[in-house]
Amino acid sequence: MRTIHARFFSRTIVALGLLAALATAQQADGAWDLLIKGGHVIDARNRIDRIADVAIKDGKIAGVADDLPAAQAKRVVNAQGLYVTPGIIDIHAHVYAGTGLRAYTGDLSVYPDGFTYRSGVTTVVDAGSAGWRNFADFRQRVIDRAHTRVLAFVNIVADGMSPRGENDPGDMQPQEAARVAKENADVVIGFKTAHYAGPGWHSIDNAVEAGRLANLPVMVDFGYLVGERTLKELLETKLRAGDIYTHCYSPFRTELLPDGTVNPAMRNGRNRGVLFDVGHGGGSFFWNVAVPATKQGFWPDTISTDLHVGSMNGGMKDLANVMSKLMVLGMPLKDVIAATTWRSAQVIGHPALGHLSEGATADLAVFRLEKGNFGFLDAAGARMDGSVRLRAELTLQAGEVRWDLNGIATDDWTQFKYVPRVEPKKPVLPGQSSR
Ligand SMILES: [Zn+2]
Repeated sequence: MRTIHARFFSRTIVALGLLAALATAQQADGAWDLLIKGGHVIDARNRIDRIADVAIKDGKIAGVADDLPAAQAKRVVNAQGLYVTPGIIDIHAHVYAGTGLRAYTGDLSVYPDGFTYRSGVTTVVDAGSAGWRNFADFRQRVIDRAHTRVLAFVNIVADGMSPRGENDPGDMQPQEAARVAKENADVVIGFKTAHYAGPGWHSIDNAVEAGRLANLPVMVDFGYLVGERTLKELLETKLRAGDIYTHCYSPFRTELLPDGTVNPAMRNGRNRGVLFDVGHGGGSFFWNVAVPATKQGFWPDTISTDLHVGSMNGGMKDLANVMSKLMVLGMPLKDVIAATTWRSAQVIGHPALGHLSEGATADLAVFRLEKGNFGFLDAAGARMDGSVRLRAELTLQAGEVRWDLNGIATDDWTQFKYVPRVEPKKPVLPGQSSR
């Protein structure tokens, strides 16, 4: 009996050993590249708003669950006390310096990667810096080179925000704009009209016509109220469901009536499906509009920067700062995140973005919600005090670490595996090969 038992046990042990070896092999093969552990995950599309772990493999989300095993990951990020969100989407920014001499945006545009990751942004939408005539140049110089995902509203005006301005109706060609959109369907998400100061509805009508031809939305900066143009006609007649009214907390187009109430045209537009975007910018977000509007329940659909040199060095600063401002106004964090992730993704027609579903591209941000005494400036320079501020700790694009404020995704230098330096680097002179 003893021998039989012994034989049975030894066979069992061999079998168990084989199973264990198999499991280890599978584990090594299926190991996650990164596990973000213990953070508060906010994913509007999947209705997640709780502490959970996020696993990443091969640049994609491998899973979100309550307690994923650390042993199965090559690297673990401790996200306790932090918020884990989909990569942030900024639907209004300026990242093309233009082809004109000292172009209007040439003085103001920024290069995307330098200003996106540090506030958790992984997708940025250029709002009409380029028009249908110079879009190819924008694509070649910026869109195809940046690591940040760059999408675009094509300006209905031929050269976009060039020194020639955006006022010549002869430059507004819906057929041409629609053609460029179709030829660049992977990156063009709509059309922009802005800063129009002439009479009539040329800029709006031509942008909407391009939108109709290409079946894409239009983003409107309503420019200057000249002649017969009214906010009422724009929002109740001209724009379609899915079109976007940016600069919604600006005072310049009767967004608030003289008695401080939200213009009924804003609500009527919203009821028709027109969307309202913050587009903070250098001159489009004012506390004396935002406070009364939000007190009356008029919250934005999407939160965006209108990023350019002027706004980033003024009251806007970056998207994390604008998101903080909406929190200071009383918008719950989960709504602020939705308005910069899943909602934005839907508004720009890219539903593969803005969430952490299994298999989605691992664009992801980790935020710290700082508590203290902070001041937030509006476009006029007025301050509002607040006690919370979002700060991006970690930004991943397709699983790659692009921003890590406090090094939570790396090792202490005493543990860090430095690449040994074999020989000093030699400079490569022009005309020489690097070999
Ligand atoms: Zn803008």
